[in-house]
Amino acid sequence: MKKTFDALQRALPHIQDLHAYVPGEQPQGDGWVKLNTNENPYPPSPQVGKAIARELDLLRKYPEPTSAKLRAAIGQRFGLTHQNVIIGNGSDNILDLITRCFVSDPGAAHTVPSYSLYPVVAGMSGQALIDVNFDRAMELDVEALAATQAKVFFLTNPNAPTGVAFSRAQIEAALQAIDGLLVVDEAYVDFGGESAAPLLKVYENLVVVRTFSKSYGLAGMRVGFALASTAIIGMLDRVRDAYNLDRVAQAAALAAFEDVDYFEVQRQKVIATREATQAQLDSYGWFTYPSASNFLFTEPKNAAGESSAEVAKCLFEHLKAERVLVRYFPSHPLTCAFIRVSIGTDTEMKAFLTAVESWLKHA
Ligand code: PMP
Repeated sequence: MKKTFDALQRALPHIQDLHAYVPGEQPQGDGWVKLNTNENPYPPSPQVGKAIARELDLLRKYPEPTSAKLRAAIGQRFGLTHQNVIIGNGSDNILDLITRCFVSDPGAAHTVPSYSLYPVVAGMSGQALIDVNFDRAMELDVEALAATQAKVFFLTNPNAPTGVAFSRAQIEAALQAIDGLLVVDEAYVDFGGESAAPLLKVYENLVVVRTFSKSYGLAGMRVGFALASTAIIGMLDRVRDAYNLDRVAQAAALAAFEDVDYFEVQRQKVIATREATQAQLDSYGWFTYPSASNFLFTEPKNAAGESSAEVAKCLFEHLKAERVLVRYFPSHPLTCAFIRVSIGTDTEMKAFLTAVESWLKHA
């Protein structure tokens, strides 16, 4: 006899209510100018390929479980020890570990708008996520953050999707004002932000989260890391999967991390292209938040000089029809009149701007 199983009813109550994270579209096939998920337009260091090749014969063996070499190299670069570093399967993995270890009643807090994975990791743990709303100025309200009394605060710096950076002094003010743990998600900091890492020596309630996905060009490899006190890292290690990073990813990330010259050249290229693109958007009379990241958050105006959610949607759709993919966030009043465009190569940005200009002619 056939046996039924009502998965929805049998799932834990908070899983029944959970909405999975929806990543930006990953179109298959060629011909797209893909400026929608803040990837690096340049390939990773040539050393990465060589490092991966060296691992192939060893794939029959389990990887080193703690990513020890990577922890040591990262610890040293930041003037810390390997005991202050944990490596994750992408920084998303680290955000989940932090939530599982440290979030209890009344929950975690995040600023809105920011990275839309935070509600998902909080939801997976069955914990509440408290919103601290920005206004259009997108400035950090430290008092509002502290007033939530959250156990963990997620702060993206530079912020996403705006690209706006908060100063180290502002981060320090937040660390002083709150009682919980401040998680500064520095996914984009290499493109112009000020890292909170030097504050780790003084503030035990700080975790700095980084990724290899953006500035190191390794989004496909899934490697992120966190810097924190040895006690915090010890807790995160308790909940980490035993082999959370495969040996190819460990080798690739180490090779990318050690090729400092290559990293610097690519980083500067992205910053220069961002500045040139920003200047072009300014010339259309569009408002764009000052960006310290590898994307621009801009409020398009149509030919009549109007901006609105409809105008942004119209541009988004025009670009998509031209096979230029950007990101559009229609569900929040502070984001719905904007598009977010990742910084690609100069050629890709030219294609983007050409498509914008063809839209301007008839919009
Ligand atoms: N934090 C922020 C703010 C992000 O935008 C992203 C990626 N979109 C991540 C973390 C996750 O990066 P990773 O690829 O390391 O999981």
